[in-house]
Amino acid sequence: MSSAAVDQVDYDIVVLGAGSGGYACALRAAQLGLRVALVEKDKIGGTCLHVGCIPTKALLHAAEVADTVRDAASVGVRATHDGIDLAQVLRYQDEVVGRLYKGLTGLVAGRGVDVVTGAGRLAGPGQVEVEGRTLRGRHVVLATGSAPRLLPGIPIGGRIVTSTEALRLTTVPERVVVLGGGVIGVEFASVWRSFGAHVTVVEALDRLLPPEDPAVSAAVQRAFRRRRIEVRTGVRVAGAVDDGSQVTVTFEDGGVVSADLLLVAVGRVPVTDGLGYAEAGVTLDRGYVTVDEQLRTGVPGVYAVGDIVPGLQLAHRGFAHGIFVAEHITGRNPAPVVDALIPRVTYSDPEVASVGLTESQARERYGEVKTVEYSLAGNGRSQILHTQGFVKVVSVPDGPVVGIHMVGARMGEQVGEAQLICAWEALPGEVAALVHAHPTQNEALGEAHLALAGAPLHAHA
Ligand SMILES: Cc1cc2nc3c(=O)[nH]c(=O)nc-3n(C[C@H](O)[C@H](O)[C@H](O)COP(=O)(O)OP(=O)(O)OC[C@H]3O[C@@H](n4cnc5c(N)ncnc54)[C@H](O)[C@@H]3O)c2cc1C
Repeated sequence: MSSAAVDQVDYDIVVLGAGSGGYACALRAAQLGLRVALVEKDKIGGTCLHVGCIPTKALLHAAEVADTVRDAASVGVRATHDGIDLAQVLRYQDEVVGRLYKGLTGLVAGRGVDVVTGAGRLAGPGQVEVEGRTLRGRHVVLATGSAPRLLPGIPIGGRIVTSTEALRLTTVPERVVVLGGGVIGVEFASVWRSFGAHVTVVEALDRLLPPEDPAVSAAVQRAFRRRRIEVRTGVRVAGAVDDGSQVTVTFEDGGVVSADLLLVAVGRVPVTDGLGYAEAGVTLDRGYVTVDEQLRTGVPGVYAVGDIVPGLQLAHRGFAHGIFVAEHITGRNPAPVVDALIPRVTYSDPEVASVGLTESQARERYGEVKTVEYSLAGNGRSQILHTQGFVKVVSVPDGPVVGIHMVGARMGEQVGEAQLICAWEALPGEVAALVHAHPTQNEALGEAHLALAGAPLHAHA
């Protein structure tokens, strides 16, 4: 066990920030018998539980129910969609968050973690100051997370919101502009369209969900067009003015759009300013904490986890980081967390799920690659659900599968097997030999691998 330069310590680990990364670290460390302090200025659970993953997915579920009711007649069910009761949607969202928060609070207490409430700062190696009190730890884990990125000249307030305010709307806006076609922007656009709003998504790059395989972005854009969500790509915003009755957004190409609400969803920035990190010797790069493969900052005994570490800003990456650090500190030699194998899901309609390399990333790394795109048109369950999309598999010729990209309702549920395939470096033929249950959407994964292995079943050869 490495140790910080402190003689007297109160804790084995002091964790600063109780979001996905911080609380996972605290829970695992306590499980491994360490004395742990978990410092949190707000509520344990952080962004994901309170203003991120969970409340947005509750909204997306309400949106799916609205669409299901709207389309009920197409499957022979008589139902009327009378509108959205946003107050009840918020109660439902709060109930879900509240139950999970209660559970998490109990879990943390049950493991004997000392939760210290207050804003903390790194006061030096092994020292965290919380509102006048100094906590000394053999190790310190920085886990202060992220916050919405703001744009100069577009102040948040009134009709201009970030994802945090967007979760608390009390009426459905008639017209919304979403700035940013990344995961958060696409998810909110999907929700509001299902709730009946006219939605315009504006993305500076040339496609929605830019980090995904271009085939996926194209499919989502087609689906959004069918849903009458307006998508404007390659357009940069110049400014936005809220005059109290509407917000007017201007673009660098001279375009102007007026709306009842503007969501600024242009990414998230790390929360590392003014927390004593740089002063303690922690290296920062554009606000992100620089770490090695073991998530060490370079200051003895000080680690960083979650969204403040450059890379994918996802809750399950934070969990994995937190667990890694607890195990590393206790000398368990865990395998480093590799971003390339972290599954990614966008929970919009249609859903997007992917893991591993896109086709072009695979070409860059391996030169030649093989790909198969299996259409959900041939998948029974997807037809039953009235969804369109595909499973695209990228493999090295005569080698393993290195990337899987999926679009279609509920395809997020398939990402577990996709991750196993990529992480275990499975050969297409090995996956093709596994029997996938019929009729499931999971079969589409099996079919794609059958095709890649040269023996397609429900597909034209
Ligand atoms: C709208 C939205 C939807 C999302 N949906 C998903 C999703 O579906 N799936 C997914 O995987 N990810 C999703 N994410 C991302 C996910 O929420 C983050 O990746 C995750 O929360 C990062 O965890 P973290 O521990 O690094 O930071 P955070 O969760 O941000 O936690 C940091 C904690 O530190 C505390 N803190 C900060 N400074 C101090 C201080 N000085 N003293 C004490 N405490 C402090 C904060 O109060 C906070 O509780 C979403 C994010 C947003 C905004």
